[in-house]
Amino acid sequence: MGLAAFQDFLFPQRCLVCSRMAYDGIQLCADCLRLMPRCAKCCRRCGLPLTSAETAVSCGYCLQHAPAFDGLFAAYWYEGVPRKLIAALKYSAELHYIPTLMWLFDAFLPKIDENSVFIPVPCHAARIRQRGFNPNHEYLRALARRYPIHCDYGLLRRCRNTQKQVTLNHHERQSNVLDAFVLNHPCDYQVVNLFDYVVTSAATVQEISRYLKAAGVQQVWVWSLARTKLATSRS
Ligand SMILES: [Zn+2]
Ligand SMILES: [Zn+2]
Repeated sequence: MGLAAFQDFLFPQRCLVCSRMAYDGIQLCADCLRLMPRCAKCCRRCGLPLTSAETAVSCGYCLQHAPAFDGLFAAYWYEGVPRKLIAALKYSAELHYIPTLMWLFDAFLPKIDENSVFIPVPCHAARIRQRGFNPNHEYLRALARRYPIHCDYGLLRRCRNTQKQVTLNHHERQSNVLDAFVLNHPCDYQVVNLFDYVVTSAATVQEISRYLKAAGVQQVWVWSLARTKLATSRS
């Protein structure tokens, strides 16, 4: 028996969600893995579900009001198992969840342009002091350890400590993040991949995309682990 197998024998991996025996190599069991709600039949632009009447790649809303980003790819809907895992990381700093969460993101990596750069959605310095880390930063680090992606962790800074978006309506979310980001250094990237581990109303990624395009970036693609399924009151 090798060392790794012996450690597995002594300390078997448990599922992070239900504590049953975990599936080969990741901290989820086969049942919880099967229950992961993959995003499917969604708008390539905003990532929300297409209605049965919408047959184009963009939803009717995006055809009328195109967002500043060129596309949004989310791996899972923000519900059930992904929501439990992400909430555990968000509220109790369970940093050891990150490798499992990034494993779940792997299926999307072949779509990434190798010449583009990844940047994390930044947190304000006060929020980082309070929580101890920026989750988007940690997710990207985990991804970059496994794949040859180019990351620029310090391109953007959140210059205003904005209110938590969860308490606000759509219009309040938009004004809450307006002019909340600045470049730390000149940006000559043509294509930027913006990483935000959870996208809800998309107001934050919309504002950053608007700002980056005004700074000369040609394309901004948003990548997320989980996307809320319902538009948070777009009107
Ligand atoms: Zn489980
Ligand atoms: Zn859309």
